[in-house]
Amino acid sequence: MAQHQFQTEVSRLLHLIIHSLYSNREIFLRELISNASDALDKLKYLTVAEEAYKSIVFEPRIDISFDKEAKTITVADNGIGMNEADLIDSLGTIARSGTRAFLEKLAEDAKKDSNLIGQFGVGFYSAFMAAERIEVISRKAAEEAAWKWSSDGKERYDIEAASRETQGTTVILRLTDEGVQYANRWSIEDIVKRYSNHVAFPIYLTYDEKEYDDSGKEKGSATKTDRINAGTALWRRPKSELTDEDYREFYRGLASPLSRDTEESLFHVHTKAEGSLEYITLFYVPRKAPFDMYHMDYKAGVKLYVKRVFITDDDKELMPIWLRFVRGIIDSEDLPLNVSREILQQNKILLNIRNASVKKLLSEFKALADNAASGGEEAKEKWETFIREYNRPLKEGLYQDFANRESIQELVRFKSSTQEGWTSLSDYVDRMKGDQKYIYYVTGGNEQTLRASPLLEAYRARDIEVLIMDDEIDELVIPSLGRYRDKELKAVNRAGADEELGKAEDKAAEQEIRPVIEKIKKALGDRVKDVKLSRRLQDSPSCIVADENDPSIQMAQMLKALGQAEMPEIKPILEVNGEHPIVASLKETGDEGRIADVAGVLLDQALLVEGAKLKDPGDFVRRLNRLLAVPPRA
Ligand code: ADP
Repeated sequence: MAQHQFQTEVSRLLHLIIHSLYSNREIFLRELISNASDALDKLKYLTVAEEAYKSIVFEPRIDISFDKEAKTITVADNGIGMNEADLIDSLGTIARSGTRAFLEKLAEDAKKDSNLIGQFGVGFYSAFMAAERIEVISRKAAEEAAWKWSSDGKERYDIEAASRETQGTTVILRLTDEGVQYANRWSIEDIVKRYSNHVAFPIYLTYDEKEYDDSGKEKGSATKTDRINAGTALWRRPKSELTDEDYREFYRGLASPLSRDTEESLFHVHTKAEGSLEYITLFYVPRKAPFDMYHMDYKAGVKLYVKRVFITDDDKELMPIWLRFVRGIIDSEDLPLNVSREILQQNKILLNIRNASVKKLLSEFKALADNAASGGEEAKEKWETFIREYNRPLKEGLYQDFANRESIQELVRFKSSTQEGWTSLSDYVDRMKGDQKYIYYVTGGNEQTLRASPLLEAYRARDIEVLIMDDEIDELVIPSLGRYRDKELKAVNRAGADEELGKAEDKAAEQEIRPVIEKIKKALGDRVKDVKLSRRLQDSPSCIVADENDPSIQMAQMLKALGQAEMPEIKPILEVNGEHPIVASLKETGDEGRIADVAGVLLDQALLVEGAKLKDPGDFVRRLNRLLAVPPRA
């Protein structure tokens, strides 16, 4: 017998599961059944696709039995099985990104949410919630040797030679005192119906039933075996036959662990295509975005089947990246069974299915928006939930998915300086004043900073709506959008965005303020690219704008954070409000110290309201204090 140490991560995970996540204990059975079903899927595939396995008679089944006295539950399958190396790899290490992400998440808000395990589906190890010792006897298809893996789920596991009649895996749980509650017919049936009813393979339960003679006296017991799951591939059944509860149940059972985060989806789309391409798709949009949506190694949400045969649940190409939150299945009639991953990726048929699926989803999203616009509270709530969770990936779609840009740009939503809640670009344009040329927006910083930005003053005064873009991704998205319904999008913090504001046309006033501008410019030297008389300020004395083609301050910060340290420093353009008393006060003075102080404060305060960090806060404070110390004029 060989003894092995668990990989440290496994030990940690086991410890956490066993000690802190008891609330959803029964799901261990779902996890074991789903592993058995995957193992059957894998073998089914091989028996169709590969010569070496074609002689195997494929009679798939999952068998559950229990023994209350001996305190055991056993789950057996005749699927692909595992050899010694597989046992070490699969049950002794954590290979899956989902599990690792689960660990990270758990470390974050440790134990707060005891439902976590249900959300992430940590698989096999969850069985240690009910068992103090687990034995796995397995024999890999097309191999002779069988192996027994056993462990108490603490630090080590043992592997020794064993025997098993056919290929497949038998998992024997030696139950804890708590776990014994599941060792009965009714609990097992109940759990299987709840979680695993649509598993495509038959699940059997073996149990003893007492028998009585005519006088009602017990005369012994008989062993019976019943099939306990429905086992139909739900997506193959006509929509008209399916109830909401059927769809909900299927969603709960979707084997991707990440889709289990909520019991309910926001909505589903079930499509059957006939004609040149035959396929069925059933997609769900989760009510809550998958926890790993922003992880580089997010888990794919869509599974591929070919003629009911499971092909993969790990192909991110099945959906565009921006739709990575969609869960569900694609089942194709036309693909060959033995497609390799490489072939899948450039397969025409699959590409067509994918394109059609994206279109279908987009039209479904649009229907959701339309319903919200015309419908009741429920429709509104649905749409708002959708936008709250998925506005951001939709925006990614704007720059990733050129072919669908037109549809996506109708879906994304923004905040606005004049509207409550979310607004669409289309509604913005409908509200535009007759002579307004551009769609205005402000980016960078949080919503509050943006709403308070002096840059908006003149727009507000002239009742021009500005979109408040407080989402980091907006900086990337909007330039790539460029125009909407023939209107150019203009950032209000750009040098050219003030042409419609029309102020400062007064030549005489401009002439008068010119020397002040020159004084400020001289005082600030190379801290600024230029100093200009502003047309967009109303109450504030100054603001910062970026030159047409320079990145904005926020963009520059983002690029820097991304490691582009080599980027040349971008200097701002300072705009000053000629009518503001602070600026006007410079007209008469020749005091260079005071001019330098005022100029410095005008620049630094403009940076501060934009949420930028000052390079030399001490300098700002010293100048400010000097100015404050001047006694008021009598
Ligand atoms: P997951 O199933 O999500 O990958 P698990 O921890 O449940 O994670 O299982 C780890 C691995 O162990 C599986 O990916 C699979 O390779 C292997 N495995 C588990 N149960 C079985 C089984 N019944 N038959 C064959 N392989 C199995």
